[in-house]
Amino acid sequence: MAEDGLRLLILGAHPDDAEYHAGGLASIYRQRGHEVLIVSLTNGQAGHFARPPQGLAELRRREAAAAGKVIGAEYLTWDIPDGELTADLPTRHRVIRQIRSFRPDLVLTHRPYDYHPDHRAVGQLVQDASYLVTVPNVLADCPPLTRDPVVAYMPDLFSKPCPLEAEVVLDVTEQLDSIVAMLACHRTQVFEWLPYEEGILAEVPEADGEKTAWLREWYRRHMLPRAERFRADLVAAYGPQRGGRIEFCEVYEFSQYAAAADLPRRERLFPTAICRPPRASPRATPAQIAARQEPG
Ligand SMILES: [Zn+2]
Repeated sequence: MAEDGLRLLILGAHPDDAEYHAGGLASIYRQRGHEVLIVSLTNGQAGHFARPPQGLAELRRREAAAAGKVIGAEYLTWDIPDGELTADLPTRHRVIRQIRSFRPDLVLTHRPYDYHPDHRAVGQLVQDASYLVTVPNVLADCPPLTRDPVVAYMPDLFSKPCPLEAEVVLDVTEQLDSIVAMLACHRTQVFEWLPYEEGILAEVPEADGEKTAWLREWYRRHMLPRAERFRADLVAAYGPQRGGRIEFCEVYEFSQYAAAADLPRRERLFPTAICRPPRASPRATPAQIAARQEPG
């Protein structure tokens, strides 16, 4: 590990969520010698029109592991059935144990506002686990963390009840090859299920040699709405010339329910990104809490 090593934990709902939404940042971490652990909380068994659930789950576990290998990251796929993730107590405990055992500096996850119930559940689970990871009497058999990790939300385009605020803006054009190589490992998804769902299965080339170029264009088509949605943030971050032209970006919003990060810490956690300084933290400091408890 690098001397100034950082630890990134990505908690996604499905195998492929992490690379689709945060593949650029994960690649940057590994290029710099930082540790990356990707976890899919569900087994992905729902993601197909023809493959039966059990075989698909096993296949997707191997696809995810291969995607992790592209950048040298470990990729765990939990055994919770796809489409059935809930923010229940046993799963919250599992998330707390995962965060405590990996000791991340930064956790990335979905927002609790999303089209997919599994995505919403992961966002809720991480929110529920965020403070408790430091509380010794919660899961007393598992040593607590001395401080919360910083938690940030991966990009999405949903606007209700509120749109994602781009507090971190990252041009990932240079990481494109790496992101596409990771996505290409999820063959049952990017070359089968997702094009099937979109009604473009016939577009997917037969020949393996042509598949990557097709996927690159597919990914570009899917990333352009993200770039357009956050265009004003890209222009503010990179200036009108570069910011006006970026096609591949990742943006992140900090969770208010985990550790606060000042600007230097934000910049350290998001290497090469443009970060906004924080607004005042809504969480009281220990000194403020103590003051509140004083009699009178
Ligand atoms: Zn997903």
